[in-house]
Amino acid sequence: MKTWERFPKFPICTLHTALSRYLDITSPPTRSFLKILATQASNHSHKEGLENLANDLQMYEDWKHRKRPNLLEILEEFPSLQIPAALILTQLPLLQQRYYSISSSRAVYPGEIHATIAVVKYRSQGGKGPLHEGVCSSWLNRIASGTTVPCFVRM
Ligand SMILES: Cc1cc2nc3c(=O)[nH]c(=O)nc-3n(C[C@H](O)[C@H](O)[C@H](O)COP(=O)(O)OP(=O)(O)OC[C@H]3O[C@@H](n4cnc5c(N)ncnc54)[C@H](O)[C@@H]3O)c2cc1C
Repeated sequence: MKTWERFPKFPICTLHTALSRYLDITSPPTRSFLKILATQASNHSHKEGLENLANDLQMYEDWKHRKRPNLLEILEEFPSLQIPAALILTQLPLLQQRYYSISSSRAVYPGEIHATIAVVKYRSQGGKGPLHEGVCSSWLNRIASGTTVPCFVRM
């Protein structure tokens, strides 16, 4: 009897497309993901550091709040980490939609929807850390006029 069904998390695509379009590589990792990452570190102190973050809630919250680390910064902080592509594809959360209020009037701009968007840009660690850019607002800020933006209207 067939008990498993294929669940298409996202379409068949290259790793580059998966990382740039479908997976969330900028949000700080969850404690359970850190626990999995600890198994992939070859250096003992990196393994221990990741396990401590995964097991100690206070330490994890402080670290997350101070650094807001993305995947790249985790690889830099624990350089002995070697993460197989399959692990990344199965464990990273899906990129979530961002909501924007319609800031235009149908009476003034019939057939158009305008949004007013603040571009998110900040440095972690009280302004001393690396520059972090908001995923959606920065992408919208960068794309050329005429680019198709995947979106839906929520009533
Ligand atoms: C109903 C609704 C309507 C909205 N309408 C609008 C709108 O009209 N216009 C608009 O601009 N936005 C609006 N937003 C917010 C918008 O949806 C996005 O959250 C925002 O644009 C950021 O998305 P991003 O992908 O650029 O940033 P992300 O990649 O999601 O990064 C944002 C995250 O970075 C962190 N962060 C940001 N600044 C700092 C900082 N200084 N220090 C530490 N951490 C920080 C926070 O954790 C924040 O959640 C709305 C949200 C909701 C829920």
